[in-house]
Amino acid sequence: MTDSSADSVRSQCPYCGVGCGLELMPPAQPGQAVKRDSDGNPIWTARGDRRHPSSLGQVCIKGATVGETLARGRLTQPLYRAGLDQEFRAIGWDQALELLEWRIRSTLAGKGPRAIAMYGSGQFHTEDYYLAQKLLKGALGTNNFDANSRLCMSSAVAGYTRSFGSDGPPCCYDDLDHCSVAFLIGTNTAECHPVLFQRLLKRKKRNPRDVTVVVVDPRSTDTTKAADHHLAIRPGTDLALLHGLAHLVLEVSGFDADFIEEATEGLSEFAQLIAEATPARTTQICGITEQQLREVAALWAMRDRILSLWSMGVNQRREGTAVVCGLINLHLLTGQIGKPGAGPFSLTGQPNAMGGREAGGLAHLLPGYRLVVNDEHRAEVEKAWGFPPGSIASARGLSAWQQIEAMERGELDLWWVVATNPLVSLPNLERVKGAIASCQLVVVSEAYADTETSHYAHLLLPSSQWSEKAGAMTNSERRVTYCPSYRPRHGQSRPDWEVFAELGRRLGFEHQFSYGSAAEVYAEFAALTAGRVCDVSGLSHGLLVEHGPQQWPFPQGSEPCGGSKRLYGDACFPTPSGRARFVADAVMGLAEPPCAIYPLVLTVGRYLGQWHTMTRTAKVERLQTMHPEPLLEIHPDDAKRFGVMHGELAAVSSRRGSVTAKVLVSDRIRPGSVFLPMHWGFSQESACEVNVLMHEQSCPISGQPELKAAAVIVAPAVSVVKPTEHSQGRLELLRRLFRDGHASARSRA
Ligand code: SF4
Repeated sequence: MTDSSADSVRSQCPYCGVGCGLELMPPAQPGQAVKRDSDGNPIWTARGDRRHPSSLGQVCIKGATVGETLARGRLTQPLYRAGLDQEFRAIGWDQALELLEWRIRSTLAGKGPRAIAMYGSGQFHTEDYYLAQKLLKGALGTNNFDANSRLCMSSAVAGYTRSFGSDGPPCCYDDLDHCSVAFLIGTNTAECHPVLFQRLLKRKKRNPRDVTVVVVDPRSTDTTKAADHHLAIRPGTDLALLHGLAHLVLEVSGFDADFIEEATEGLSEFAQLIAEATPARTTQICGITEQQLREVAALWAMRDRILSLWSMGVNQRREGTAVVCGLINLHLLTGQIGKPGAGPFSLTGQPNAMGGREAGGLAHLLPGYRLVVNDEHRAEVEKAWGFPPGSIASARGLSAWQQIEAMERGELDLWWVVATNPLVSLPNLERVKGAIASCQLVVVSEAYADTETSHYAHLLLPSSQWSEKAGAMTNSERRVTYCPSYRPRHGQSRPDWEVFAELGRRLGFEHQFSYGSAAEVYAEFAALTAGRVCDVSGLSHGLLVEHGPQQWPFPQGSEPCGGSKRLYGDACFPTPSGRARFVADAVMGLAEPPCAIYPLVLTVGRYLGQWHTMTRTAKVERLQTMHPEPLLEIHPDDAKRFGVMHGELAAVSSRRGSVTAKVLVSDRIRPGSVFLPMHWGFSQESACEVNVLMHEQSCPISGQPELKAAAVIVAPAVSVVKPTEHSQGRLELLRRLFRDGHASARSRA
């Protein structure tokens, strides 16, 4: 393999938050036939970019096959229908934007700005995220912008902010090469962040004594295979475990007294709380042995360079923020932060959820990690945006689930979903469907034609996706990569930021939304981060193109590749006192614990070869072959107890509904728990809408729903509670209308 192809382009993978560098080769290579997908579209092939500092040429199967996903099944032109029981008809962009402008104006005049909301995505480029904030929060005066990051990383955001005074992951991927202990909790890194896992695995294989791997997960996974210590705790007991570990660290004097004295506050309250987290109590709650607990506590107490990694298993919990803070408490107690190989490190789910946080892409944020409730922050942003004082509302906007509740109450009349598929990813899906069906105008901006959410849209707007638009993305280690436009826009699709800008101009904000390019949008955003923790004021599209990906903080005047690898190396934190805080949160446990009627805990996760709701990965035959259907993992004892057989269909029921799935009897899962993947929605052939089962109870601090656990019962599928005739009929109707709508749209085009 040559080091690079002459006419290749470089970008960041648009799947997970590892943010690997990709090198994309054009469909026509010298001496070779043009490469095409199975629909005959020419495809760019992808391989790892050896020059990208985050991934060093590595790539997983999703990234390697992304070229096959870019042209198939696309939405090509705007479609509209007045009611969900009507056919879509093709309309032009001018008509679509006129309609949207008119509905925004009439909603503002009627119910006011809080009756409008947008639900965006970590798939956005930073430029899309930024202009969505300017449009919603600045021009329209509503903070009702939330993103699917609410379901993914908002507990990490809240945890960092409580403990350190600001969001911002303090670590970098190089820490995998330096840590002496890798403490993985609530993350199946092998399948969800595979390139990072392979980096850790390679190091461990080379020198097994160099690094000790601890994995905390109720389930055995490909990640736990690499563990020296696997703590298969009961679901929902991780905060109890962390408190128990802290208790033992204190008991054996394994803390860092100098660091605590110089750089932290709040230890005494925390020490009081964990006094009760004795080994006996902790092991009884968590379902592990005292020896297991003591061995892992000894690592925290004795070792230097401890790196902890976490993901959805921690964040998607009612006590998600508390668990994040509980983990950070351990780092503060032992002084394991701000140095090579040490620190708490959240692994982001989506490719640009980090950029979204920087651009203010949640209902409580403004660009540059600012807060909507902070008077000074609002004034700074209003001035920079050129809106009069008071334009930005002072109250937090509606979070993802609050937007659903507002629709149920009839308070939200215009819901705009962009680059995400909430009809698979939100919890309690039947309730979500009812709420959305009652909304007066549902706008869906999408790259793909047939997502589950499209079935509930009135207005469908075709989006140009990654590869067809230029922009920046930030990965989990705070590294910003320029993603070029290297393919033509598909059909009439347009980049989301362009649509937001045009709508802003149509609404009368000509001056605020006049941009000639994505580079101009990025320049305005970057300037607004000056002096903030996430300072990227020294970055520009031009610099990223010339010098490659850069880590922030990167203030104006920084030398290329001079960004800080780690935050808090000076033990100085962005709190009023400059000290990091111990946070003392009591254990709450699961919001919906198992009971006599629903005696099992369902936990939900991901497969290596599938991505989120499969809008892309379902288009790749190789990935479909890897994971042709969702499988219900159940322990042999439970399979026997509930009378389900390996390879047969089982019904899984919760208080909210039922699904069916093929049974995989396995001792990978602990007794009392079952597992299902989250990817399959109602439009997939092997439909298994697992989030029909999940509840919406959320972390009170982050607003992140507890998508990781619900109480269920399992039975042979012969006794499955089928969807009601009404809902089945409705689904068929929607499918038919959507199909026919597309057919008529095509024939009119
Ligand atoms: Fe893409 Fe994530 Fe795979 Fe890297 S690990 S290639 S970012 S999906």
